[in-house]
Amino acid sequence: MKKFICLVQFICAFSTFVSAQESTHSHSLGTSLQFPNILGYQTLKCDLHQHTVFSDGDVWPSIRVRESLMDNLDAISLTEHLEYQPHLGDIPNKDRNRSYQIALKEAKDHNLIIVRGSEITRAMPPGHSNAVFIQDANKLLFTNYLDAYKEAKNQNAFVFWNHPYETPKNDYITYLHEVNKKLMDSNLIQGIEIVNTHNYSVEALQIAYDRNLTLMGTSDVHGLIDWDYKKGSKGHRPITLVFSKDRTQESIKSALFDRRTVVHYDNTLIGRDSLLIPLINECLVIKKSFYESKSLVLTVVLENVSSCNFILQNLSQYTLVENTDLIEIEGKSTITLQFKTKEILKQLDWSFNVLNAVNAPNSHPTLKKRIIL
Ligand code: ZN
Repeated sequence: MKKFICLVQFICAFSTFVSAQESTHSHSLGTSLQFPNILGYQTLKCDLHQHTVFSDGDVWPSIRVRESLMDNLDAISLTEHLEYQPHLGDIPNKDRNRSYQIALKEAKDHNLIIVRGSEITRAMPPGHSNAVFIQDANKLLFTNYLDAYKEAKNQNAFVFWNHPYETPKNDYITYLHEVNKKLMDSNLIQGIEIVNTHNYSVEALQIAYDRNLTLMGTSDVHGLIDWDYKKGSKGHRPITLVFSKDRTQESIKSALFDRRTVVHYDNTLIGRDSLLIPLINECLVIKKSFYESKSLVLTVVLENVSSCNFILQNLSQYTLVENTDLIEIEGKSTITLQFKTKEILKQLDWSFNVLNAVNAPNSHPTLKKRIIL
């Protein structure tokens, strides 16, 4: 097994070398995340849970900004633990706004929104929560957790429950604790991470639907994004797609309070049908449809304008020449489908399941595309 890993590593290293010879700086484009706008909203790529040396992260805030630019993100938040600063001996700055200020300076000449945020850190329950769009992180420091949540509300922050499955039981199940239920009832928590780092919580998704919470997905990165998420140049950090009226802090915040999000995690899109279906519909564009002369096979050219790879399951009564019922289309690519329609059609209402999208626990959305000839 060890020998196999070594060989794989060698091949990866070799191909990196080859591509580096072919072009410079293509690595930043290769990992850039892309999604189309929908329903008159801008689709903003956000990672609102990250750490730096100002709490328990390993990097300086400027690195977070540069990583986010490489990933083509629109907005980030450096949400340092308010109550946990293990590097304080080496970086003696007690100002909880410091990492935000450094990131803001770094992002000044770039098109990246820096959202001021903090992680309110307690044992479960209530566990950890991020307060984003706060005014002053220092004012959130309290002995009593409830005071911190109340101050976040006082600052008009949007608050979401982080990695809600992290309990002393260590069973990775999300339980709706009484304490958290009360925070939700008092409108002190408005969102929940259904995805954090490499973890997806189906129970958290169910709680989000039951309690009408905003769906969040974050990297919660402490080390480097590339090391954690881009093995072999593939992969991406978890992000929250926010459907925002415009590209401003105020609009992003309103969108979060209005639950206008879809989570993008491990090449999967997770969200409510009302946003998920229009999003996938815009990602997959029918470029051409025609019959070759003397052919009863309908050719359809399908383009994926997003960076997400899709796995579709054909539900049409017509089978395909080259594919089984499963169709894979990579991000930013075009494929040709050939439907065996047996006669010349004027129109085909093509329906398909999107297997790498989740609209409810263990459920995949069905989409319909009208192909007119
Ligand atoms: Zn965190």
